[in-house]
Amino acid sequence: VSKFEAVTMAPPDPILGVSEAFRADTSDAKLNLGVGAYRTEELQPLVLNVVKKAEKKMLESGENKEYLPIEGLAAFNKATAELLLGADSPAIKEGRVATVQGLSGTGSLRLGAAFIQRYFPGAKVLISSPTWGNHKNIFNDAGVPWSEYRYFEPKTVGLDFEGMMADIKDAPSGSFILLHGCAHNPTGIDPTPEQWEKIADLIEEKGHMAFFDVAYQGFASGSLDQDADSVRLFVKRGLEILVAQSYSKNLGLYAERIGAINAVVHSSDVAVRVKSQLKRLARPMYSNPPVHGAKIVANVVGDAALFDEWRAEMEMMAGRIKTVRQRLYDDLSTKDKSGKDWSFVLKQIGMFSFTGLNRAQSDNMSDKWHVYMTKDGRISLAGLSLAKCSYLADAIIDSYY
Ligand code: PMP
Repeated sequence: VSKFEAVTMAPPDPILGVSEAFRADTSDAKLNLGVGAYRTEELQPLVLNVVKKAEKKMLESGENKEYLPIEGLAAFNKATAELLLGADSPAIKEGRVATVQGLSGTGSLRLGAAFIQRYFPGAKVLISSPTWGNHKNIFNDAGVPWSEYRYFEPKTVGLDFEGMMADIKDAPSGSFILLHGCAHNPTGIDPTPEQWEKIADLIEEKGHMAFFDVAYQGFASGSLDQDADSVRLFVKRGLEILVAQSYSKNLGLYAERIGAINAVVHSSDVAVRVKSQLKRLARPMYSNPPVHGAKIVANVVGDAALFDEWRAEMEMMAGRIKTVRQRLYDDLSTKDKSGKDWSFVLKQIGMFSFTGLNRAQSDNMSDKWHVYMTKDGRISLAGLSLAKCSYLADAIIDSYY
């Protein structure tokens, strides 16, 4: 008898498990709208031109495979902080930003969570309801207690701002408030600039700290700067924050696992100490991060021509998603004779649409229509083509009623 006999079967991952079910489906009509990964109109994965150019440059310069330092590639860490806060950011100039390269968004969040567990024992993290499925796993595994704040209002398919503020207010002083920097996943609903101001007021008043998850910078509006406005607002007000970044979506570097954890703090002295402790947490977990993605980012951001080309490619991706969003809305509105208002599809931003389909309806989408999506009703518009919008609208309407 196996010594592993007591090991039970783990449930499939709610997001990556959808891709597994998709792969097993043999229908020609099948559509994978589960994972948030960009596809072309032909539904093929895309490697950005700037990434190919940067990789060519890297190959030609004959780079070696030496270990990176624990904190990652210096040129990457500089580029990523500047991209987040702006190249002329006073916080960067004053040395008040501690940046450590992480294993993409997930690994960077995990490092931030481990830091909270060690230096703020007992402090609670507040997570939006709903949120990206992995947030809860990350804080659970790091041993950080969490609870939810209200975020989504199903009646208006909008933000429950009053509920959100009330829950942040009720949290014990010194809590961490996890905020999606832009393009909230899964709802596609972000606070307005005025609401961000009020959120910052309340967090300051309560002595909380914002922990931003920035996984879609450039993908919400098409502008890197505009998508960082929420984070920059907190920094401008002199608030200390944590920020996890990911280059999975905006540079299409999903499998390279490249991102960063940043702490913006009150002094350079504190920043140096915080960075030393982030490194200390990283060392026994994975020792040091992978180099390839870090060099791609550093090359693209550090070269004016490549940087401009990246911005154009990002606008193209964001633009394609907006076009698909519009087409889906048009198809839903013309096909659905019930008079239902589908305009929420147009109001949502980023990669996803939160359809309002429940679990049973999502099951109908996959079982009858071969359309795979997460069971919370989220569909990835980045995985949809114009040609498939009409079919998807039929599937949604059939599943709804
Ligand atoms: N945060 C959010 C909100 C996300 O949607 C994602 C990607 N789906 C991530 C973080 C991290 O992804 P990765 O680890 O691939 O960078």
